Amino acid sequence: MSASLPPGATIGIVGGGQLGRMSAMAAARLGYRCHILTPDPESPASQVAAATTLGFYDDLKTLRRFAAAVDVITFEFENVSAAGLDLLASLKPVHPSPAVLRMSQDRASEKGFINGAGLPTANWMPVDTREELAKAANLLGLPAVLKTTRLGYDGRGQATLRTPADLDAAWEKLAPKPLILEAFVDFACEISVIVARGAYGNVVAFDPVENRHVNHILNLTLAPAQTTQNILDAATGIATELAGATNLVGLLAVEMFVDRDGRVLVNEIAPRPHNSGHWTIEACPVSQFEMHIRAIAGLPLPPATRHADAVMKNLIGPDDLALWPEILATPGLIPHHYGKAEARPGRKMGHVTRLFPRGSLPGPFAIEAALGVLGRGRLGGSAP
Ligand code: AMP
Repeated sequence: MSASLPPGATIGIVGGGQLGRMSAMAAARLGYRCHILTPDPESPASQVAAATTLGFYDDLKTLRRFAAAVDVITFEFENVSAAGLDLLASLKPVHPSPAVLRMSQDRASEKGFINGAGLPTANWMPVDTREELAKAANLLGLPAVLKTTRLGYDGRGQATLRTPADLDAAWEKLAPKPLILEAFVDFACEISVIVARGAYGNVVAFDPVENRHVNHILNLTLAPAQTTQNILDAATGIATELAGATNLVGLLAVEMFVDRDGRVLVNEIAPRPHNSGHWTIEACPVSQFEMHIRAIAGLPLPPATRHADAVMKNLIGPDDLALWPEILATPGLIPHHYGKAEARPGRKMGHVTRLFPRGSLPGPFAIEAALGVLGRGRLGGSAP
């Protein structure tokens, strides 16, 4: 990348969800205008952006119109077709690069890339036929997780196989899509690290955090992760190596399992801001969103320091959103509403962050109490 993007320039964001919304808010503070590409006229990102091109991600005419209106292009939605990515890259600078996006769109190429960089994942095998599924289940053992290679998120496109009797139903549910079978990890915890890589190859890493899921959807993030220094260092090392190996400009979120023996295994990577980094908005001088905008705009990347400990709780579906008035009335809860009109079950509607002085993240019961109405029975078990 040559010179940095001057204030007043326009950043194009493909995708109109909450990640685009919070990126646009960070970009505005640096003097940039954001232009959103989305099929949704009421998208969360459009509501806070300077402009929107309405249209579908794979419509080449729409992509051409969008590219003409912006100075640089980035993504909060990665599943644009290969032809669409190539077209965008032929018209304007695109960060992260189409090569990184393509790699991360497909679980098989993603895991192949991670293993090729010498980094560990759960054992896995590609599965294209029912016979290959039987063979993979034999080799990897059960339990195992069958996953579609593309378009899976929040547990969609997955089936857990516990006994050989589960194979038929899982195959019926997910075939004929390309699949992988992955050994089940009996994890001690799930952690993630968000790294940013600048235009000149410098990498900064936010502290590793711990993620708790309910029904495969992220529910709670604890910053920092409550684990050993060795595991924290291993996770940061893996994320930093991956950022270098991808050569990307922008953010890379790396989700990892810590198994019962303390080994750190990469689950998946995403070249964009990530739900497990929302706490950085309040707990860090430079949030993940500002770091992403800085990287793609060719601005300096300051250290990803953290001045507070934090807990982030997602607001999911109509039940959590119904508590909005109580959330606003609870001292210490920092509320974020994504502006989505319809609160469908399982949909991420907003989040709250609760800060604690650095080094004083309390134990489970105090966290539950600190989240007030959101803590009571909503943390996936009796306590986090
Ligand atoms: P994914 O879509 O791969 O991020 O999976 C969503 C969630 O399913 C993960 O965050 C884990 O909680 C769980 N999961 C996915 N793969 C595995 C695995 N191989 N072993 C155990 N749990 C898994």
